[in-house]
Order: sequence, then C-alpha cells, then structure tokens
Amino acid sequence: MRVVKSVVEMQHEADRLRVEGKHIGLVPTMGYLHNGHLQLIEQAKRMCDAVIVSMFVNPTQFGPKEDFERYPRDFERDKSLALRSEVDFLFNPETKDMYVPDYGTYVEEQEASHILEGKIRPTHFRGVATVVAKLLNICKPHIAVFGQKDAQQVFIIKKMVRDLNFDVSVFVAPIVREADGLAMSSRNVYLSPEERANATVLHESLKYAEKKIKDGERNVKNLQSQMQQMIRSKGAPSVDYVAVIDPEMFRETDTITKPTVLVALAVRFGSTRLIDNALISTE
Ligand code: AMP
Repeated sequence: MRVVKSVVEMQHEADRLRVEGKHIGLVPTMGYLHNGHLQLIEQAKRMCDAVIVSMFVNPTQFGPKEDFERYPRDFERDKSLALRSEVDFLFNPETKDMYVPDYGTYVEEQEASHILEGKIRPTHFRGVATVVAKLLNICKPHIAVFGQKDAQQVFIIKKMVRDLNFDVSVFVAPIVREADGLAMSSRNVYLSPEERANATVLHESLKYAEKKIKDGERNVKNLQSQMQQMIRSKGAPSVDYVAVIDPEMFRETDTITKPTVLVALAVRFGSTRLIDNALISTE
C-alpha cells in the first residue's frame, strides 16, 4: 500500500493506473475507520483492480460550531486497517493542499441540500459536494463507493455526478450496524456508556416505522409523533428531525403513496449527533 499525501502525486498515480488499463475504485472517508468503511473497501475491491481510500477530515463540510476540531483522528490505526484490507493507495492530503490560501470555488446542489441535514447544517452539503468533486478530479476513479448511512449525501453526490457529467459510476453500499442495531459511525466514540445504550432506539424506531408502514400506516404525522415519542423515552435526547422522504426526488412527504420511502432521522444525545435511515418498501 502506498500512502500519498501530495495532490499532484495522486493525480500522476491515477493517470498511471489508467494507462495500465486498471479499473480504479475510490472510497472517500474522513478516517477513523470502522467496519462500515471496511465494507465499502471490500465492495470497491470486488469491482475494481486498484482501490484508493481517501482520508481527509474536510473542514468545509463542518459549520463553525461543529466538531471539526474534536473529530476523532488516528492515522496510524487507520493505516494499519487499510493495509490489512489490502488497499492500494491511501490518499491523505493536507488541508493547505486541498484548499490553497485563496481557494474560492464551490459546488452547490440547490434543492436537496436545503432540507433535513441541510436545514440544520446550512453549508454542509456545499462542503461535501466540493470535496467529492475535488477527490474525483484527483483520484480519477471509474467507480466511487459511498454508504447508504448518509442517504442525503448519496442523493446529492449522484445528482452532482449527473449534473456536472463526472465520468464515474457511484455505487452505494448498505448500512453496516453493530450487533444491537446502532449504525456504525466514527462519532459513536463520543457517546457515554449510557448514551450508547440508549442510542439503539434509533434503529428500533426505524424498525417500528417499517412495521407500521407494512401494516398500512400512510399518515406521516402519526408515524413521526410515534417515533419521536419512542426516541424521547430513551434518556431525553433532542430529535432534530424524523422525516419520510420520496427517495426519487428527495422531498419530504405527508402521505405515503410511493412503493418505497426513505425514513431518515437525526438525534442528539448530549453533544453527539447521530443519523440513521431505512429504505422501506410500502407493499
Ligand atoms: P465518513 O468517514 O463518516 O465521512 O464516511 C465515509 C463513507 O463511509 C461514507 O460514504 C459513509 O456513508 C460511509 N459509512 C459511514 N458509516 C457507515 C456505515 N455504518 N455503513 C455503511 N457505510 C458507512
């Protein structure tokens, strides 16, 4: 495995791989790898000849009061996990190389970016779309692999790739969960033991929603209030949103009419903000 820090060197390596006829897979991450990330890597390895994992805590996707400074980082641990997963390139650029001092170009999706996560984190998706666009130009992958854990991000990136004609396929891998259902996340380390125990309610509430929908519930307000009640009963976390989304348009809906809906939620346990979602077939 090669660790590459320089943007230009990564571009040269990507060019070389392409000249050799290699199919390149990219797995963008912010590091502090867990099994969710490792599954994306395995997926990329199944589809590609050379796998690049980028590891970059991207400052432009964090708001001024968010956890950029305290976001967990452990490069040596990540490096050994990537090595064990037989990653070909670990791209770990410096912030000053990704964002030069007079940096001034951003990619902004205009619709889906402003609901749910975007309402609470107004500059988040601008930062995500910008860094992913940069990573696609630097690593030149044929396939980029993302996790369904960040369903809104996936929608926005697919839309960006389509709208801006990026020559890449986006592959979405399923959510990887702990044994008790909590979706794996680098941020789970922030949780106190009590919060960690209570956090299983996120997945439980999604399972509950699935059952209610399958039993015929079509009224989103009813569903939301039942899910919120269930979540709030566990250590009084604060619920940022519980939403039912039409996954094709990524718009909130009041009545369930589509064959598949996305139920997405964001909940704060103390200072830790967790997101989760489920794609639910309504039939
Ligand atoms: P992050 O390092 O949190 O920015 O995540 C990097 C990639 O891993 C994103 O595409 C995430 O959606 C994906 N990811 C994070 N957690 C999970 C999980 N539990 N299951 C599947 N993919 C995940």
